[in-house]
Amino acid sequence: MKRVAVLGATGSIGASAASVLERHADRFRVVALTGHRNADRLTELEARLRPREVVLVDAAVDAPSHWHRGREAMLAVASREDVDIVINAVVGAAGLEATLLALASGKRLALANKESLVAGGPLVLEAQARGGGELVPVDSEHSAILQCLQGAGGAAVRRLILTASGGAFRDWALEDLAKAEPEHALRHPTWSMGAKITVDSATMANKAMEVIEAHFLFGVAYDQVDVALHPQSIIHSMVEFADGSVLAQVGFPTMELPVLYALTHPDRLEDGVRRFDPVAASPLTFEALDLERYPAFALGVQAGRAGGTAPAAFNAANEEAVTAFLERRLSFPGIADAIRYALDTVEVRPADSLAAVKRADAEARAAARTMIEERS
Ligand code: NAD
Ligand code: MG
Repeated sequence: MKRVAVLGATGSIGASAASVLERHADRFRVVALTGHRNADRLTELEARLRPREVVLVDAAVDAPSHWHRGREAMLAVASREDVDIVINAVVGAAGLEATLLALASGKRLALANKESLVAGGPLVLEAQARGGGELVPVDSEHSAILQCLQGAGGAAVRRLILTASGGAFRDWALEDLAKAEPEHALRHPTWSMGAKITVDSATMANKAMEVIEAHFLFGVAYDQVDVALHPQSIIHSMVEFADGSVLAQVGFPTMELPVLYALTHPDRLEDGVRRFDPVAASPLTFEALDLERYPAFALGVQAGRAGGTAPAAFNAANEEAVTAFLERRLSFPGIADAIRYALDTVEVRPADSLAAVKRADAEARAAARTMIEERS
């Protein structure tokens, strides 16, 4: 019996995790659940999963008296002694410290919170090395790559090919993007996800973050990571080996499979997700990425290549800009402009401490906010 904690249980990945954990209650015991503000959803999850501990981070929201409250309580869950696996499904850089704590205390970390690796990649690898934790991705692309690498016997990897749906505006005329509203951006063609990542998919800031995530997870150079548009989201990513052979992982889009695999890797459990049907999935098509349509992607990869605190600044500026867009304080193309402005303003330093990363994060948020306020 593996003992599991779910951070960010009230979100979209949290819902996938709850379904998986419920189906496999004979293998996994849910020890703790955390949420930010949604007490009703957390109450429902508590009734279904019967954890020992429930944490609601926002102390201003009404909650049952037996729940723990506040950010410190969430962080304490990440290193609880009676937990084997931490699923980090928090959104944003708010998830970084929990990632570090879980790895430093030797747990398996099933990581959906990609912002952890983007903001603090070197710190994450250091915490893992220090604590002996195990870092297993939940992101579907990285789960696909891990599965392709599994059984390859350490064969030399030439290249990773991440697939991307292209998001909500893939087929919009470029001149219409200035008129894009939050409700348009939130209509993702193939995946149902939280608001922030859905907007990140529309700008492809998400794919830039995934390139950075791949760099740290699999130890590949940025030149070894390519991205191809694949509107059907059936091929979740590919690995090209030294001999030119390419392996892909394939399936109908569902996050339950990557969540389950992160729990069982390198093993597999009998499970009942929708069976794959190549005929129903066809045709599968691929397109090159149009950088003019996705400037936030180019900025994110540039920040990744620059290294140090640049990706933390990129991530923080993006978080501020996406929030402003969702609150109708910023246009859709303004998201990339705010990121560019912050990256031009904030000095890049080594990402060698949590303090350095937090400083870059704060400076980039301030820069992005300045630009956003000047525009509105
Ligand atoms: P979501 O918005 O649906 O859920 C986010 C969760 O984080 C909620 O439980 C919320 O309570 C919690 N949270 C928010 N702010 C917090 C804070 N400041 N402190 C503590 N907890 C906080 O988001 P999601 O779509 O489930 O995505 C979660 C993470 O997984 C993101 O990093 C996202 O990029 C990644 N991811 C999601 C998907 C997907 O299909 N949804 C796929 C791949 C990766
Ligand atoms: Mg992904």
